Amino acid sequence: MNLLTPIDKIKGVGSKINEQLSSAGIKTVGDLISFYPRAHEDFSRVVDIADIRPGKATIKAKCESISTRPVRRGLRITTATLADKTGKLQAVWFNQPYREKQLKTGEEFYFSGEFEFNYNRYQLSGPSAELVSDMPIQTDRILPIYRSVKGLKTTLIRKLLSELRPLISILPETLPPDIVKRENLVSRSQAIMAMHFPDSMADIEKARERLAFEELFQLLLASQLNRQENAKLIGWSIPFEQSVVADFVSKLSFKLTSAQRVAAWEIIQDLEQKTPMNRLLQGDVGSGKTVVAGLVACQVTSAGLQTAIMAPTEILATQHAETLCKLLQPFGIKVGLLTGSVKGLARKMLYEQIEKGTVDVVIGTHALLQPTVKFHKLGFVVIDEQHRFGVKQRQLLLEKSQFMPHMLAMTATPIPRSLALTVYGELDISILNELPAGRKPILTKIWSPNSRAQLYEKIDTEIDAGRQVYVICSLIEDNPDNEIKSVQSEFVKLQNSIFKHRRIGLLHGKMKPDEKDDVMQRFASHQLDILVSTTVVEVGVDVPNSTVMLIENADRFGLSQLHQLRGRVGRSIHQSYCYLVNSTSAKPTKRLLEIEKSNDGFYLAEVDLKLRGPGEIYGRAQHGALNLQIATLADTKLISRAQSQAKLFALVSKNLIQYKQLAAAVHYYQRLTTLN
Ligand code: ADP
Ligand code: MG
Repeated sequence: MNLLTPIDKIKGVGSKINEQLSSAGIKTVGDLISFYPRAHEDFSRVVDIADIRPGKATIKAKCESISTRPVRRGLRITTATLADKTGKLQAVWFNQPYREKQLKTGEEFYFSGEFEFNYNRYQLSGPSAELVSDMPIQTDRILPIYRSVKGLKTTLIRKLLSELRPLISILPETLPPDIVKRENLVSRSQAIMAMHFPDSMADIEKARERLAFEELFQLLLASQLNRQENAKLIGWSIPFEQSVVADFVSKLSFKLTSAQRVAAWEIIQDLEQKTPMNRLLQGDVGSGKTVVAGLVACQVTSAGLQTAIMAPTEILATQHAETLCKLLQPFGIKVGLLTGSVKGLARKMLYEQIEKGTVDVVIGTHALLQPTVKFHKLGFVVIDEQHRFGVKQRQLLLEKSQFMPHMLAMTATPIPRSLALTVYGELDISILNELPAGRKPILTKIWSPNSRAQLYEKIDTEIDAGRQVYVICSLIEDNPDNEIKSVQSEFVKLQNSIFKHRRIGLLHGKMKPDEKDDVMQRFASHQLDILVSTTVVEVGVDVPNSTVMLIENADRFGLSQLHQLRGRVGRSIHQSYCYLVNSTSAKPTKRLLEIEKSNDGFYLAEVDLKLRGPGEIYGRAQHGALNLQIATLADTKLISRAQSQAKLFALVSKNLIQYKQLAAAVHYYQRLTTLN
C-alpha cells in the first residue's frame, strides 16, 4: 500500500463508502491521510465513575443492564447501567438499539461521551463504546473530529485511518531537512500521525505548526520563484524627464499629498529599469490614486509609448476617461475610451487609432481584453480596482505588447500585510496612507429604521446647503418574500412623497449603458440632488460634492463593501455623513459596529480578514484554489518565518530539483498566482 493506492483497497471500504469518499474528493490513500480533522476532543483521561465530573469523559466499565424503549414514532431510547469498581452511572443513546447486542457480553468497555445533566439526572450521553481488549479508536484518547462530508461518519474515517497507521509511521519527509531542523519542526510523519492519533494536545499544536509552515513555505517559495522569473523579462526602459513631471504637477488644481509624490516617484524609478514593473498601489478610498496613474501616463506618453487603463465598470471607465482627459489634454495627449457601448464605426476607428498609435492613453472595461484590440507600442498597463479582476485578465492585457509592459495594479481594498506577502508576494507595494489635505473624517452612524423621519430631515438640510446624496439599496426590484428595499420602489417612494421637491435619479446594473451614463452625468454635474442606486457605484465613483451616503439594509453588506460605499463621500472639504440603516430595530451586527467606529480601511481589512477569512474577501476563484488546509493567512508570525526560509531556499536554483513533492506543489502555486 502506498499514497497512490485507490481508497477501496483499504479494509472496510465497500462500493458505497468508496463512492461517498470519492465524491468528497478522497480517492487515494494519500488523500485520506491528508484529510485532516477539523478539531480534536480530549477523551484521553480515563476516570473512575466515583470521580466523574460534568463534561467530556471516558470511563472503563462493564454494562450491568441495558434496555430499549420506544418514546414516539422515530425515536427509541436505549438506557444502560454502567459500573466500575467505584460506582455506577446511567448512559443513554438515541436510536442506537444495536448497543444492546454490543454491550451484553459482560466484557469491559471504554465509554467516551458527554457527562451531563438531562431529564433530572446526570447521564453519559450517547457515548461511543469499544472493547478494552481491542485497540481503542473511538474512545479513550484525544479524538479527531472530521468534517462530515456526504454523510460520512467521523467514526468511519477514524476506523479507516487506523488501518493506515503503519503507512503513516513511515511517510517520507517533504520539506528540506535543514529547514525542518532550523525551524525546529516535527517530521511530516510525526505531524500527520499526531493529527490523526494524537497523544497530547501539545502534539497537535506541533503538528499543526509543521503542516501550516509547509503550506506557507510552498506558497511563498512560489512567489519568490515568480519574482525571479519576472526579473529575467525584458521590458521598456522609460527615462525620467523632470520637466514632464514638473509640468504635469504645476497644472494640477491641487497640491499632491506627500504619499502621492512618494508613490509616483517609486513608480517612475521602476519604469527606468529594463525589467518590467509589477507594482500594487494601495490607497484607501479617496486617497487619490487616479492622478498618480495620470502622472505616470504622462511620462510614458512622452517616451513614445501607450498606456492602457482597465476599470471594472463602464461607469468607472467613463469617469476615468473624463478625469484623465482634463489632466492630459493640456499636454497634447490623446485619450480614448473603449467600453461595450462604443459601437459600429466609432469602435472600428478607435481600434485603428490604437493600433496605429495615434491614441496614447486607452481607458476601458473588459472590452480592452478582446483580441481585436491591438496596440502599437503598449508600455504601461494600469489595472484599477485590481481585486475585481482575475489573474487571467491581467495576463491577457499584458500580452498585448511585444515587450512586457510595466504594470500598476491599484486597489482601494487595503490588503493586510500577511496577504500581501503570500497572495501578492511578487508585487512591490506602494501605499497612499494619507488623504488629501482638508478632508474631514466621515461621520458614520447606525440608524434604526424606526426613526427614518429624522434622518430624512437631516438629508433635506444637506441638500438645502447645496450638497448631494446617495441612497443605496441592495436589490433592483422588490422581492415579495422579504422586506428588503429595492432601488425601484425606494426611488418611487422618495420621489412621490418625502423628496417630492428634489431632483432624484435612479441607477442600477440592469439599465442600458447609455441610460446609466446619462444618470451618472446628471448626478456628476449636479442636475440631481439624490441618486438612488445599487452597489454599481460601490467602487471608484467620484462626485466630490456629495456628502451623504445612506445605506438601506446595511446589515446585508460586507465590511469592505460598506467601507467602499462610504468612500463615495468625504471627497471634498465639506463634512460628510454615512448612515447605515439596519433592517430591523434589533441590535446591530459586529460588522456595523466596526464600520461605525472606524474610518481606517487598513484596520477594517484586518477585521474583515478575521471575520470572514481571505477566500471570501479576495475572490473565491483565486484564493479558494490556494487550498490551504491548515495554515491561515492571519498567522503573521508563521508567515514571516516561512518567508525568510523561502527567500534563502530560492537563492540556490538547483535546490528545488531535489524535492519532487515540494516542486510539484510550488509549480502549482506559481501558475496560480503569476502575473505574466
Ligand atoms: P481613489 O484613490 O479612491 O481612486 P480618486 O483618484 O478618485 O481616489 O480621487 C479622489 C478625489 O480626490 C478626486 O476628486 C481627486 O480629484 C481628488 N484629489 C486627488 N488628489 C488630491 C490632492 N492631492 N488634493 C486634493 N484633492 C485630490
Ligand atoms: Mg479609484
